[in-house]
Amino acid sequence: MSRIAVVTGGTRGIGEAISLKLQEKGRRVIANYGGNDAAAKAFSDRTGIEVRRWDVGDHNACLDACAAIEDDCGPIDIMVNNAGITRDATMMRMTFEQWDEVIRIDLTGCFNMAKAVFPNMRTRGWGRIVNVGSVNGQGGQIGQVNYAAAKSGIHGFTKSLAMEGAKYGVTANAIAPGYIATDMLSSIPENVMEKIVAQIPVGRLGQPDEIARGVEFLTSDNAAFVTGSTLSINGGQHMY
Ligand code: NDP
Repeated sequence: MSRIAVVTGGTRGIGEAISLKLQEKGRRVIANYGGNDAAAKAFSDRTGIEVRRWDVGDHNACLDACAAIEDDCGPIDIMVNNAGITRDATMMRMTFEQWDEVIRIDLTGCFNMAKAVFPNMRTRGWGRIVNVGSVNGQGGQIGQVNYAAAKSGIHGFTKSLAMEGAKYGVTANAIAPGYIATDMLSSIPENVMEKIVAQIPVGRLGQPDEIARGVEFLTSDNAAFVTGSTLSINGGQHMY
């Protein structure tokens, strides 16, 4: 039987590429989204991948959605926490609402979804959780104290979850993308984009599929000995 994979924010951008890659590798994929019904429908019509709408920042909605998926399709084997938003502003201008919304969706969303799937994965003795962080969670960024805090938090969350899951066959890893050509970058002015690209040693933005390939590896049987790690896919922009 096909392994069942849930990809949050799986209908657009990086998530779309992840959903497609996992489908290509024989997984049964359920792609979550937050509110853009038109984009989700177009994605589903194009790919045949089932889409379901809920807010990853809503704890009970996550528990209910995963329970419904397990009832309808079977146990969730692979959880990709990809949904994320930005609400950029400098510290001088950032409102509490901008802070809170990003933490709720980008960081608490990972907890909510892991909470919904981890117990059953542990009981079954197999599971793969991948959390999408960011190069700006590793290095910080002006105008992103909210986003950098959420993404940095994902890395600590992932390592602790990995320790708890290791002896039960449940791995948890993070991917830290650099700048990837998706709608998320559309609000960045062209002159700022040029400066960003100038800081990327390979000299270009990444493509969503380049992140999806990393997720495919981390969610495969081949990655059973990889847990608690962060895979940086950023064109050399940030190196430890
Ligand atoms: P996009 O803005 O292109 O897509 C975001 C996806 O997340 C959409 O499917 C959206 O659904 C979904 N989403 C947003 N809020 C919620 C919510 N509350 N509940 C459920 N789903 C939600 O983003 P990207 O593809 O660019 O980014 C994907 C991930 O990669 C994010 O976590 C982002 O932080 C991270 N990342 C991106 C980088 C980049 O350069 N693009 C760089 C580093 C990290 P809907 O269509 O309904 O709005």
